[in-house]
Amino acid sequence: MTTNNLFGQTESQLHKILADQGEPAYRAQQVFAWLYKHRTAHISGMTNLPKTLRDRLQGQFTIQRLDRFQKFPSNDGSIKYVFQLEDGHSIEAVYMVMRKGITLCLSSQVGCAQACSFCQTAQMGFIRNLKPEEIIGQAEAITRDQEVEGPFNVVMMGMGEPLLNLPNLIKTLDVLLHPDGFDLSPKRVTVSTSGHVRNLLELAKYPKLPRIAISLNASNDDQRNELMPVNERWPIAELLDACRQLPIPPRDRITFEYVLLGGINDSVADAKRVVKLLQGLRCKINLIPFNQTPQLPYQQPLDQAIEAFHQVLERAGIINTIRWSKGRDVGAACGQLATPIPKPGARIHPIAPQV
Ligand code: SAH
Repeated sequence: MTTNNLFGQTESQLHKILADQGEPAYRAQQVFAWLYKHRTAHISGMTNLPKTLRDRLQGQFTIQRLDRFQKFPSNDGSIKYVFQLEDGHSIEAVYMVMRKGITLCLSSQVGCAQACSFCQTAQMGFIRNLKPEEIIGQAEAITRDQEVEGPFNVVMMGMGEPLLNLPNLIKTLDVLLHPDGFDLSPKRVTVSTSGHVRNLLELAKYPKLPRIAISLNASNDDQRNELMPVNERWPIAELLDACRQLPIPPRDRITFEYVLLGGINDSVADAKRVVKLLQGLRCKINLIPFNQTPQLPYQQPLDQAIEAFHQVLERAGIINTIRWSKGRDVGAACGQLATPIPKPGARIHPIAPQV
């Protein structure tokens, strides 16, 4: 283990840590539950461990959660959280109140390497992968801050490409889905990808497959190459082939996200091509009207274009929803998450949570 932070460790990692201390396996289960179910902030609070073990652990380990953040509440009830990380970088996550309950949109990387031309996060470039404690930490801090009780939903739709941080995404799932962890059903967790096919098929081997969302965003390869460079490596046909292989449970569907860019990919001809592409796939489509981001040369689609696109999908019998992103007034909407990059050597001071 390269860190002495117990927070972010999976149960099997804790097994190893406690076995090294000469402790039986059930101690790992106890520590795991203290960290994620009871949310203990101090090792001294793990009261069913012998005092001698607690003292020993305290000498070697800490519990370090994401405690430095700022909040930006939106008029629509959602809240953007900006977390300061240890190395001075920041990441963003969004708390949303939706019809199906509380939903948290979490980041998987600082910045993003995918270079999608319409997305603000892409402008940051790729900085680094988030560690499991930093991904899980977003969920832990927000649910603690908002006093969320009971199950909530997670969408991995914040900054970064989750499938390019697959080992840490898997560790995050190990904690979120564990009955002694956050105890979320896999149906409550959605992993969204720009379409990294090999890693998508790798994730498909995970025993509790979360929901999958694919950012399609175009109706043919030429268009998608322009908008999403990942398409040059993994073109639409290969991506959809992989989708057909996913072991999606019988009553579930893959979600396709389609950002409507005015005059670019929002024509009726585009909609008809999308229908053709998705033929035979158990899926639904989220149509996301483009959210304005500074310096990007795209326009919101016209209302008539949105409606016409929607109607083509309807007539083809494809379940689809027009998704007006939440939190647009505080830069918390799809494609708007980005933070300034700190200057080298910049010191980060703790920031008290503010309402
Ligand atoms: N990298 C992953 C996770 C990010 S999800 C992925 O691409 O799926 C973020 C979603 O917001 C993606 O579906 C993306 O297509 C969409 N998006 C990006 N920029 C946007 C913008 N300016 N307006 C609306 N949606 C946008």
